[in-house]
Amino acid sequence: MKKALVAGGGGFIGGHLVESLLGDGFEVRSVDIKPLAEWYQVHDHVENIVSDLGEKEACIAAADGVDVVYNLAADMGGMGFIENNRALCMLSVLINTHLLMAAKDADVSQYFYASSACVYAAGKQTDPNVTALKEADAYPAMPEDGYGWEKLFSERMCRHYYEDFGLETRSGRYHNVYGPNGTWTGGREKAPAAISRKIAEAKLSGNHTIDVWGDGLQTRSFMYIDDCVYGTKALLNSDFREPLNIGSAELISINGLVDLVAEIAGITVERVHDLSAPQGVRGRNSDNTLINDVLGWEPSTTLRDGMERTYAWVYDQVVATR
Ligand code: NAD
Repeated sequence: MKKALVAGGGGFIGGHLVESLLGDGFEVRSVDIKPLAEWYQVHDHVENIVSDLGEKEACIAAADGVDVVYNLAADMGGMGFIENNRALCMLSVLINTHLLMAAKDADVSQYFYASSACVYAAGKQTDPNVTALKEADAYPAMPEDGYGWEKLFSERMCRHYYEDFGLETRSGRYHNVYGPNGTWTGGREKAPAAISRKIAEAKLSGNHTIDVWGDGLQTRSFMYIDDCVYGTKALLNSDFREPLNIGSAELISINGLVDLVAEIAGITVERVHDLSAPQGVRGRNSDNTLINDVLGWEPSTTLRDGMERTYAWVYDQVVATR
């Protein structure tokens, strides 16, 4: 039986990945800095460990005896968090650095790094009518300040760990992942969960006015969690060693996302636009030419299907906390 380490296993994507790896027959060690009570999912028959993977000793212990490492641990959140916490975001470099060092010394055979579409150069994302981003668009580099620079640096470190030490590293550039069992309140949540929460609260309270960050014309694509987990494992098990987009190519504006969720909820809402709120880049989509070539696959869960499941879960959380 192979053993996998999921770093950041108490988080959104990590929790789903642990479940999937158990289904694949892996023995799993899941490590996160948060107290166990705050993990989104705690699975049985898993070695669940609370420790700070920014520390080298914790990484050495975490990588001991494992065959495969998935590094999903990072201090991160939606635009509201990353635009106001650049130093904290950059400190995640300690996690990937120490985990790479530990993985090499422990003779780990495969290593996945969760990178992000935030590595892409800002100048290529100024128009809502976007040209989808190809992997080569990360250079010349001008990523998201703080968070994106850390991701770009860590991608390169993974690359050099292969070139210099033969550690089989893979970097997946996730584009906005969403789904149940993730952050939906508290300031780190991303647009799909935040909009679901606001619309669930509007439905329950009868006050159908909701605030929307920016003018709502900014565009994005959003990938459902099941596609994210599938793409992550498929990339790790491929022989492709360059960073690869893992994202949906279904583009929508934030206003469009609000309309979609309101329709799912069965209400109409009135939007109040907060033009001073963080908005990130103007437009971003994933060019999936390369992932189709490499994996013969691309994320394909429709936004409607994924948001129906996500809204239903967020609605239950809102009800439970009222
Ligand atoms: P998340 O915040 O739910 O999960 C990250 C987990 O890492 C958290 O549970 C956190 O407690 C843990 N962590 C932070 N610092 C740690 C430390 N020092 N030691 C141990 N654990 C630590 O976020 P997520 O959405 O599951 O994201 C997982 C990974 O994917 C992250 O690297 C993130 O940057 C990347 N990513 C996510 C998205 C997205 O849309 N969710 C998009 C692009 C990239």
